[in-house]
Amino acid sequence: MIPSKFDYVVARSLDQALQLLGKHGTDAKILSGGHSLIPLMKFRLATPSVVVDVGRLSDLRFIREEEEDIVVGGLATHHMLESSALLLEKAPVLSMAAARVGDVQVRNRGTIGGSLVHADPAADLPAAVLALNARIKVVGAGGEREIPADRFFVGMLESAVRPDEILTEVRVRKSDVGNGAAYLKVPQPASGFAVVGIATTLSWAGGTCAGIRIGVTGVGQKPYRAAEVESRLMRTSLDGEALRSACARTAEGVDVLSDIHASAEYRKELAAIYTRRCVEAAAARARG
Ligand SMILES: Cc1cc2nc3c(=O)[nH]c(=O)nc-3n(C[C@H](O)[C@H](O)[C@H](O)COP(=O)(O)OP(=O)(O)OC[C@H]3O[C@@H](n4cnc5c(N)ncnc54)[C@H](O)[C@@H]3O)c2cc1C
Repeated sequence: MIPSKFDYVVARSLDQALQLLGKHGTDAKILSGGHSLIPLMKFRLATPSVVVDVGRLSDLRFIREEEEDIVVGGLATHHMLESSALLLEKAPVLSMAAARVGDVQVRNRGTIGGSLVHADPAADLPAAVLALNARIKVVGAGGEREIPADRFFVGMLESAVRPDEILTEVRVRKSDVGNGAAYLKVPQPASGFAVVGIATTLSWAGGTCAGIRIGVTGVGQKPYRAAEVESRLMRTSLDGEALRSACARTAEGVDVLSDIHASAEYRKELAAIYTRRCVEAAAARARG
């Protein structure tokens, strides 16, 4: 439970943090809230020789509205997301997911950047950024790039962010938010992580579903979009047997996790039920 020896550096600017990553390569790790990195280091599953603390880079701790986008800084905490009036009004699924993360202490320290880069297959925020079709901005030695959410989660605890990059922003197009959203999860009783977590955004127009995105966490090796379910629900009235049979496909083709909290078979069943409930909840909000 004691980490291996490491140097600790407090970064005073993004440039300094990037320089340190460039200098130390894979030996260095960024520290934001520390709620995932420190446990990994204590178990010696991560053994960086240099820890670069970006926690004082207040320029990255914001939530703001731009002309076309809602933009969340990489260091915004889960608590900021859950309590942001702007997000609650304009991208509520992100607030709903953040409100279900762990407990108050975790939400006060943990950040959106840390959660997404850590890419825990049972974390809450990945489902929300998938449902929002968010773009994730990272900065590295080679400059800036934006990674679409559906290409961001690469595998178990593996994101598309390279070791020399820092996640600086999560950008959501206002036109991608829809008019109804919900996040539902079955929490693991001790940590609160999702045994199954489902985020939905949808657009309801003229009595049918005009657009829908469903982000799934807790079920597979990585968070994913339930694309087959989405396409089956397009232009339907989101009810009855059509809804039930579409949602039954939530875990289709997925290598479903199995652990002491839920067998693969049980998780698959939970995923179907919670997707249906989540779509129903989002549709009810969209219909007003
Ligand atoms: C008791 C407990 C319960 C929890 N329950 C839940 C839960 O129910 N749901 C849930 O989703 N999460 C849960 N978490 C995880 C929590 O949300 C973490 O805060 C989050 O996953 C990581 O954010 P962090 O800021 O603490 O990242 P850190 O621990 O600082 O970093 C995590 C990883 O991301 C990298 N990193 C961090 N920030 C950046 C950045 N800006 N750019 C590039 N790389 C970066 C680090 O190098 C490290 O590899 C729980 C954690 C604990 C301790």
